[in-house]
Amino acid sequence: MAPDLYQFLPEVHAFLSQSPVRMFIGGRWVEAVNGGTFETLDPGDGSPLARVAEGQAEDIDRAVRAAREAFTRSGWATMPVKERAVLLHRLADLVEKNCAVLAQLESLDVGKPLSAAATVDIPNVAQTLRWYADLAVHTRLREPIPVAHYEAYQARTPYGVAAFILPWNFPMLLVGWNLAPALAAGNTVVVKPAEDTPLSTLYFCKLVEQAGIPAGVVNVVPGFGEEAGDALAEHPGINRMGFTGSPEVGRKVAAACGENLVPVKLELGGKGAAVVFDDVDVEEVATKLVEAVTFNTGQVCCTATRWLLHERIYDAFVEAAAEKMQSIRIGYGLSADTMMGPVVSDKQRQRVLGYLERGQRQGAHAVLPGGPAEVPGHEGGFYVKPALLAGNPDNVCAREEIFGPVAYLMKFADADEAIELVNRSPYGLANSVWSMQIDRAQRVAEALVAGNGWINGHNLFPHGVPYAGCNLSGMGGGVLGPDTLLDYLRPQSIVRPLE
Ligand code: NAD
Repeated sequence: MAPDLYQFLPEVHAFLSQSPVRMFIGGRWVEAVNGGTFETLDPGDGSPLARVAEGQAEDIDRAVRAAREAFTRSGWATMPVKERAVLLHRLADLVEKNCAVLAQLESLDVGKPLSAAATVDIPNVAQTLRWYADLAVHTRLREPIPVAHYEAYQARTPYGVAAFILPWNFPMLLVGWNLAPALAAGNTVVVKPAEDTPLSTLYFCKLVEQAGIPAGVVNVVPGFGEEAGDALAEHPGINRMGFTGSPEVGRKVAAACGENLVPVKLELGGKGAAVVFDDVDVEEVATKLVEAVTFNTGQVCCTATRWLLHERIYDAFVEAAAEKMQSIRIGYGLSADTMMGPVVSDKQRQRVLGYLERGQRQGAHAVLPGGPAEVPGHEGGFYVKPALLAGNPDNVCAREEIFGPVAYLMKFADADEAIELVNRSPYGLANSVWSMQIDRAQRVAEALVAGNGWINGHNLFPHGVPYAGCNLSGMGGGVLGPDTLLDYLRPQSIVRPLE
């Protein structure tokens, strides 16, 4: 942490100075039952940022009990939807009012540029809360079923305790995407944020309190995956699970939920592709794809990591992209001119560097080799340079999720070849197609096996359009769509014979 160089907001300073930052259970700020704590680091220089209470199985149990109690007794689940919506709008107001604090915490904990946190991540949380609050008000909770000889209808009621295990790349934004529909539907929640980035989620609980949301409706237990995460996934008291993270851990979480027959939503990794035809403005598309793959230092599940370029524009595109990539300013998250911050941890940095080395050992040509980056004044930070590799589709960097600012370039001659190359991946999250011929772009987008296809853009997330993965990228319904609200409402058929 470099407080002398950067202006810390007094609220941020006070929040980080607590020792430890406590967890939020049943409307109270509490330490871990066993008193354990852990450090969260500033990825910008590797120094300790704050000490945080470390939740374990007993703390998860307390949180699930508190959420259950709030579900049955606080009135949250049974209050008129309009009243719940008012409270969620009040929470959204508070998120907006405290945007500067949340954004600074997010930038410090994740390493992302402050401007990105302040203009993308935090405002999106407020928008998502509002969007689901309004949708809930307009959703029919009793739907007639027309059948002969019976009066029948479907009633929808909240499930109970919805549990969430979340990753470190967009901690706050994913709190919004996941909690907003669950809360708007009337569930209570228990959240286990990633151990690398618990701070904004904990600060958010202060706003939950201020909004007047009843105690126990939102509970947050920071801690490590194999302890707190595992305990939450296995807890028999949860009624739904939403997991966002890697396929490896997703499998474990799904297996634990399967044991208890708890419905689970998995939002997992990706190996997104961009298919660029020869009728585009090369400079413009190269700029957009460089922005996509360096956004959040490439730590984006759906980012464009495989670039399939039509052979006629390949050389010009690579030249334009390399020039643009070299102009990306790497720096500390709070520096005003930073375009790309560090990756989140030393482990993540080693992962990215390891892939670059293995990819080149397997024969990839390095247009830009990437590698460690130094930021003066921030020695010890987890910085990497963006990289452009090119080569055959069997290379490890063309197949596996790197989760860093690395694009892998391949040539194609026609649409069929591009489709075949994209569909080699076992992932199925998001791809983009770039062409002025919209009918061709739509045909190709539909042929790419994935939950999401974008045309002439990448990373597009309007509220109301479902965002979900298939195959290794996830299952269970996704987020951001109108159906996501229904996922948190238990359907029940009510039938009466007519005489
Ligand atoms: P991860 O799977 O390592 O961790 C995710 C969460 O799971 C963390 O909170 C972690 O503590 C917890 N966890 C770890 N081990 C656990 C266990 N045994 N039991 C229960 N919980 C456990 O993933 P990560 O490194 O934090 O995030 C990166 C991954 O997330 C990438 O694969 C990325 O693509 C994916 N992701 C997907 C989406 C999406 O919407 N599809 C969004 C963001 C990130």
